[in-house]
This record gives sequence, C-alpha cells and structure tokens, in this order.
Amino acid sequence: MERLVFVLPCYNEDEILEITIERLLFLMKDLIERKKISEDSYMLFVNDGSSDNTWEIIKKNYLNSKYVNGIKLSANVGHQNALWAGLMTAKEDANIMITIDADLQDDINVVEEMIDKYYDGNQIVYGIKKKRLADPWAKRVSAEGFYKLMNLLGVRTIYNHADFRLMSKIAVQALSKYKERNLFLRGIVPLLGFKTECVYEDIKEREAGKSKYSLKKMLNLATNAITSFSIKPLALIGWLGCIIVLFCTIMIVQAIIAHISGDTVAGWTSMMISIWFIGGVQLISLGIVGEYIGKLYIETKERPLYFIEQALIH
Ligand code: UDP
Ligand code: MG
Repeated sequence: MERLVFVLPCYNEDEILEITIERLLFLMKDLIERKKISEDSYMLFVNDGSSDNTWEIIKKNYLNSKYVNGIKLSANVGHQNALWAGLMTAKEDANIMITIDADLQDDINVVEEMIDKYYDGNQIVYGIKKKRLADPWAKRVSAEGFYKLMNLLGVRTIYNHADFRLMSKIAVQALSKYKERNLFLRGIVPLLGFKTECVYEDIKEREAGKSKYSLKKMLNLATNAITSFSIKPLALIGWLGCIIVLFCTIMIVQAIIAHISGDTVAGWTSMMISIWFIGGVQLISLGIVGEYIGKLYIETKERPLYFIEQALIH
C-alpha cells in the first residue's frame, strides 16, 4: 500500500472547495478501506494567491480532518507554477501524486483505475478527456487547434490531456531536475520517459465558480508551450524569407519589363504593396525572435517560481 497525495491548485475557488473536499474525502476513505492506498494519504491544496476565502476554507478543513493539508503561496503564480509548488512539496512524503483541478471537472471515478495502473508498474498515468462536451465551443476548437499546432511543430503532447495525471515519486523526482522557469508540464512530462499509461474520462461542467483561465492566460500558456518546446518558428522565419525573395525576383523581372515598355507609373501599386508586405513580415519575424530572446532573458535570471507563505501539514 502506497501513500497517495492529491495535489489541487486553487485560485479563488471558495464557491466549490467544500464540495470538492467532501467528494475527495469520500473517495479517499473508500480507497483506504479497500487497502488501495495507505491511511496517511492526504489532499494537498495549493492556494495560489486567492483573494477570496479559499485559504480560510482550507484552514478550517485542515483543523477538522487529518486528510486535508494546504500550502499558501505568497502570490498568484498561475496554474502551472502552483502545480509545481504542490508536486515539489508533496514529493517529500508521497509515493504517488495525482494532480487534479480544484473544480473537479475531471472524473474522480477513474482515480482507482489510475492507481491500479500504477501498481501494474506504470510511473505516469494520464487522464484523457474522451470528449470536450462540457467546454464552450470556442474553447473546444481552440484547444483542438492548439494540440494540432503543437504536433506540427514537433512537440510531443498527449492529445486531450490536461493536468489530471498520476505520477510516482520517481517520476516527480525526475521532473524536479528540470530547471525551466516557463513551465508547461504537459510538454515536459512526456519527455521524462518511464512506463506510461492512460485512462479515459468524461469531463464535466464546472458546478460552481467561473473558469480562472481567461483568454489572456490561455494565450500565454500556448505561446509559452510553443516557444519553450520548439525552435521551429525561428526556422520558419528563414523559409518565409526565401519565399519572399523568390516572390520579389518575379516582381523585379516584371518591373524591368514594365520599365522597358515605358509603363513605370503603373508599378506604383505593386511597389507599395510589397513595401507594406515586407515590412509586416519583418515585424512578425522580429516579434518571434523577440519571444525567444525574452525567454532566454527570463530563464537566465533563474528566479524562484513560488514562495510558501504558510504550510498546514499534519
Ligand atoms: N488555477 C490556479 N491559478 C491560476 C488559475 C487557475 O491555481 O492562476 C487553478 C484553478 O483554481 C483550477 C485549475 O487551476 O483548480 C484550473 O483552472 P480552471 O478550472 O479555471 O480552468 P479551466 O478548467 O476552465 O480550463
Ligand atoms: Mg476547470
């Protein structure tokens, strides 16, 4: 029997946290009774700089139940960093860690299957969303597009897997060796290797509270994911340059022919178009190069990802 720790990042989740705790407690007690996990397993809530009553709820439940622990981060550092903080804290005394969102949109009924797969010798078990019916149309389409783009850029991600995942102590210890500041766990974890399995779940709608992933946060995650894992956009700039040079050669030939035939004023339109076009392409290219330089700048600073302000651990 192994010690399991659920890692749950929470950002302003006071509307749903009590329900989440109640459901997970029920599940844990059942798993403990049936000797799937050890008696000293627990939930680790990571309060990611919430401005509502999230921390008070965690504190209250910590006092009432030995299965509830929490850490309070000093500021809102974002979902990925909060997960990291939780995993780095939990790996000290857990044999198995399961990361799951605090809104329990993921189906906790597959947790047992995950644990079984761990006992079968898997170090990582991914929770895969069967269908994204619960997500709004726009989110579904953008997520699909994102996975496809990542694939095209040569980044290995697990299709339709968010951060609902079981990891063994060994896997998390390996993960802790990664020193990057721009975290995209869905990209790093598949790089770890180890024996890996998947379980399939039906994703539910959020029962309370709103999504904490604003469009801005989602776009940030996507650019982070691309620029941290692929340098193909840099190579694409070069290719784009080649195509444009080719295109311009044709334009030049055309301009010379027009000049010879004494038709030069007519070339004004195409000249203006090409100036604008090239200008635009240059700006885009500079922007992409800038993204990578910015990333280098951030990574070299090696800033700490989080600070724990308070820890409530039994
Ligand atoms: N979250 C967090 N920090 C943030 C944003 C989100 O810890 O800055 C947590 C949030 O509390 C939730 C999980 O990350 O447990 C996923 O967020 P959410 O459910 O809002 O995203 P969605 O399911 O809508 O993609
Ligand atoms: Mg959610």
